[in-house]
Amino acid sequence: MSTRTCFWFVVLALMLASPTVAQDSSEKKKVVATLPTISALVMEVGGDKLEITSLARPDEDPHFVSPTPYLMNRVRQAELLFEIGMLQDRWVDRVADGSGNSRITRGAPGRVTTSIGVPKEEVPDSPTRAQGDLHPEGNPHLWLDPLRAKMMAANITRALTRAYPSDSDYFGERLDEFEDRIDRELFGEELLRLVGSRKLGRLAMDGELFDWLEQQEVGGEKLITKLGGWLQMAAPLRGQKAVEYHKVWVYLCQLLDLELVGTIEEKPGIPPGPRYQREITERIRNEGVSLILVDNFYDPGLPNAIARGTSARVVVLPSQVGGEPGTDDYFQLIDTILEHMVAALSEGS
Ligand SMILES: [Zn+2]
Repeated sequence: MSTRTCFWFVVLALMLASPTVAQDSSEKKKVVATLPTISALVMEVGGDKLEITSLARPDEDPHFVSPTPYLMNRVRQAELLFEIGMLQDRWVDRVADGSGNSRITRGAPGRVTTSIGVPKEEVPDSPTRAQGDLHPEGNPHLWLDPLRAKMMAANITRALTRAYPSDSDYFGERLDEFEDRIDRELFGEELLRLVGSRKLGRLAMDGELFDWLEQQEVGGEKLITKLGGWLQMAAPLRGQKAVEYHKVWVYLCQLLDLELVGTIEEKPGIPPGPRYQREITERIRNEGVSLILVDNFYDPGLPNAIARGTSARVVVLPSQVGGEPGTDDYFQLIDTILEHMVAALSEGS
């Protein structure tokens, strides 16, 4: 092709391509999420209909994000703002208020709380600060349980459908795909086919799955032998004991049957004093704790010092999508967390 022909070919290609590109980007709905993992769940449902921004960084403490002018600017054009709620990401109120974008202020239709209707743990009996200031409505780190992530995705789908009804089929199909993939990754294809999503999900939420699978037989074999996916991969963790740095891991540990017996923080957000440090070290020793779970935005210095006098292993974990390399979506995040936990356990044995 001559230079001149080549030039006109490029011009023609640009003329054909540019209106489509411009149209596509202008059609994408601008939405924001407080945390990277919520952003990832929104994109599972919203796909290429959305342009999303996460306000917190993946390696940032999700309780303390500074409401800077930079963040206010990033939410100025947003039509929807997705948050966890439970006062976990209340810092976003100052971002939304400061942006002047009335579509996403608290109480506005564009504010979407993704934890609504999702079962909570560690909920205080009465409104009190006995659990510190960070978890006043129970443990908000719901996104680390794939079954609860499905419920959050369903909440997200309802909000997107309400906001953009002409795309409701698209969102519905993507939610179905996401839920189906979570089930397959969690239980394995074979068990899912034999028992079904609804029953497996209910048993797992009630903490009865493993006992039930041990009792049931199919073709002369116990059903537990048909378990695959993440729950099979995490089988070495079953019945082990762990301590966490901050109260983050209750939901995933319940799912895996990994027993949490204590927290290094004295209360959520409150580092331990010397007496409490001695108590928790003693408990780790007496209870035969295998793992100390530490989110990667905390300094592992203290957990490492505590572990030194015990047989427990410290395992540093990402708790957000993008929190370490190779955690680019929700599935990779759960994969990575389980790999780290199982590897730490085998190093310690
Ligand atoms: Zn927390």
